[in-house]
Amino acid sequence: MSARTTSREPARRSRAASKQHVVVTAGPTREYIDPVRFLSNESSGRMGFALARRAAELGHRVTLVAGPVHLETPPGVRRVDVMSARDMLKATQRAFREADALFMAAAVADWRPARRLSGKWRKKDEGGDEASIALVKNPDILATVARTKGSRTVVGFALETADGIRRAKRKLERKGADFIVLNDASALNAARSSVTILSSDGTSRQLGIRPKDRVADALLELLPEQRE
Ligand code: C5P
Repeated sequence: MSARTTSREPARRSRAASKQHVVVTAGPTREYIDPVRFLSNESSGRMGFALARRAAELGHRVTLVAGPVHLETPPGVRRVDVMSARDMLKATQRAFREADALFMAAAVADWRPARRLSGKWRKKDEGGDEASIALVKNPDILATVARTKGSRTVVGFALETADGIRRAKRKLERKGADFIVLNDASALNAARSSVTILSSDGTSRQLGIRPKDRVADALLELLPEQRE
């Protein structure tokens, strides 16, 4: 299916962007409650791994910061495995220090338990039918890293079930990214997806449903031709 476009579409910078160091984050994060229980989400990591694989195939140097997923490392990609959002923040900041671009495809948990118990959570032993866990906010990796980006390219993702364009636009501004890639929930754990790319210059471009490798190719065209 061909790309559907809006009347003003983001500049497609170059099919053959010069070779760059690209950082990609992928998969969920896991926020432990105790040694055996955690909060997480359904992310499979496929979009990020497709981006990393295609970027390496195009000759870019790729660092893939991966949450816990069952996917093989694409050939030629340097992989850093992480578990929690705070681990991912550290690894992403470290990799981005010497990189040219960041694709923040990970589904980062927004919250983590305020305390990680060293032994199993025994609330049920106290009786009663209700329990609660205090949560604290995780750092926003995209917003934190975007503050240091200078002229480098930072691409975020948004998964929305309603009012997607308006929410994605606000996210773009709030997080200081150059682009936000808007998915709907059907993209989760799926081999194909349809996305809308919103640019900080106010333009947008919708891509019809396609395999994630082809979505990755379109996203890699957002990289500038020359390193600035
Ligand atoms: O706010 P929301 O989670 O929808 O934003 C999605 C984008 O922000 C994704 O690119 C995701 O990787 C990133 N994000 C982040 N740190 C968080 C939450 C989301 O970098 N704590």
